[in-house]
Amino acid sequence: MSANAPNAPAPSERKALEVRCPSCGVMHPYRTDNPYRPFCSKGCKAIDLGAWASESYRVEAKPTTEDLLDDPGALP
Ligand SMILES: [Zn+2]
Repeated sequence: MSANAPNAPAPSERKALEVRCPSCGVMHPYRTDNPYRPFCSKGCKAIDLGAWASESYRVEAKPTTEDLLDDPGALP
């Protein structure tokens, strides 16, 4: 038995490519299945889109967390 390679890592274990989030600047692994890339999260993408929209269009009302919650009193 050789003692030179006790537990060699699997060849398929590659280091993930990391990119910097344009919104918050955090380094995060780049995933092609990440719908929010190159942003790190949905929130950062929303922030960037919001900043872009505010420069190009007038935003009269932004949806808040409360607006997204279910309101039992607002049923038709
Ligand atoms: Zn981010």
